[in-house]
Amino acid sequence: MLIARIGGAVITALAPRHGAEADALIWNGRKPARRAKLIVRAACAGDVAEAVRFAAANGLTVSPRGGGHQFTGIATQADMVIDLGALDGLTLDLAARTARVEPAVTNARMAAALERHGLAFPLGHCGSVPMSGYLLGGGVGWNSAEWGFACFSVAAVEVVLADGRLVTASARENADIFWAARGAGPDFLGVVTAYHLELREAAKATSTCVRVYPAARVADVAAWAESVMADAPPCVEFTCKVTPAPNGPVIAAIATVFARTDAEACAIHTALGHDAPEALQVVGPMPTPISALYEATEPSMPRGRRYAVDTLWSEARFGEVLGRITQDMARAPSGESMALVVLRPNAVETPRDAAFSCHGRIFGALYAIWEGERDDARNIAWLRTAIDGVAPLCTGAYVGEADLDRPDRALPTLAPEMRARLDALRSVLDPRGVFLRRIPSPALAAE
Ligand SMILES: Cc1cc2nc3c(=O)[nH]c(=O)nc-3n(C[C@H](O)[C@H](O)[C@H](O)COP(=O)(O)OP(=O)(O)OC[C@H]3O[C@@H](n4cnc5c(N)ncnc54)[C@H](O)[C@@H]3O)c2cc1C
Repeated sequence: MLIARIGGAVITALAPRHGAEADALIWNGRKPARRAKLIVRAACAGDVAEAVRFAAANGLTVSPRGGGHQFTGIATQADMVIDLGALDGLTLDLAARTARVEPAVTNARMAAALERHGLAFPLGHCGSVPMSGYLLGGGVGWNSAEWGFACFSVAAVEVVLADGRLVTASARENADIFWAARGAGPDFLGVVTAYHLELREAAKATSTCVRVYPAARVADVAAWAESVMADAPPCVEFTCKVTPAPNGPVIAAIATVFARTDAEACAIHTALGHDAPEALQVVGPMPTPISALYEATEPSMPRGRRYAVDTLWSEARFGEVLGRITQDMARAPSGESMALVVLRPNAVETPRDAAFSCHGRIFGALYAIWEGERDDARNIAWLRTAIDGVAPLCTGAYVGEADLDRPDRALPTLAPEMRARLDALRSVLDPRGVFLRRIPSPALAAE
């Protein structure tokens, strides 16, 4: 009996509360149709190892669950879900500027701990998201143009493999596993029970300026953005947030500057404002420490709503991508939906020694957000039509927020050679397929 061998809990499909417990593991208000038969609430890494050994011995597939934030609810769709929600240890080594974090530590908790010591990490844009799946998928975080995608600040991982062994992987030991842990996302070949992170000095003068435009100005906004961002330093994060409105979509051009001093921030904002099209409204520049950034993003993605989400990377002209997405937003069935389109020509080079291999000068994320189940089909159809429409301009998608429910996805989440290397590694480390493979890719769909 598994329950006798672990410190945590086991909930079987026969337990009266099984359905509610399985659904509660998923952040999205829209719950997946398939539920894991066994829910294992791990209390420690040893429990994870026991659960994986039990699953392997009984021919069960496994999915780890960090915070259940992947919008498609994939965390609970294997035979057994191992809930890592209780693994939330956080230790800082201030002298070495490193941290050991367990999977359930959230962005908000990490930000608060680091802020006290003047330290930073490329944390994700919403406070509730845990390190668990955020780091595995790559981590498109705050100030990613300067600090890089978060997985490149991971120095090592502690991992339970398909045979139940707990190993450490870094550039020096188990380097193949470390390669996969940086970007494989839900197709990773083990359960990460802790991350070792490299920290950096915090930006001391973070500030944001928001300019609001009607959809009719989209071409002018895009041309201005291309022009000023061509010379912008990496510490500028430039995002157009597009939302539906009764008189047509509204574009909020948001420039967040992670500067070292107020004078530097001021100079950068002045340069960014050069020749900016006349806006309906300008807010800022205003100081936005990380806590303020989280306060600003949280209301856009309320918990409990129903979500369908997909992402894109593109090398096309900003005006083409933003124009297309703004048109799509005019047709969104729900007024709560939104798109984020990030222009990042100022990004530092992305290392190539990791599974994370789809990225670009433009990042886009489309969020269908609505309330009632009766509107599921309309909103999902809108999202998929919008993504299919923009796909010819795109090179790939970001796995962390990709619509993995689609067997016919047009956009890959890994470069083909990285997908092949991951598959080869899987045949060695998980030959019996204990960890459920969940990512359809164009190549797979064609097989
Ligand atoms: C409100 C919100 C805001 C977001 N903002 C951002 C953002 O700014 N930047 C960004 O990059 N992403 C963002 N995301 C996406 C988020 O990073 C991913 O959904 C990520 O998977 C969340 O981690 P999780 O542990 O909750 O994943 P879960 O849904 O729990 O797990 C998804 C899958 O990841 C794998 N997995 C998770 N943890 C582990 C582990 N410890 N070991 C092995 N496999 C594991 C499993 O295969 C699992 O099925 C956001 C999501 C939400 C809901």
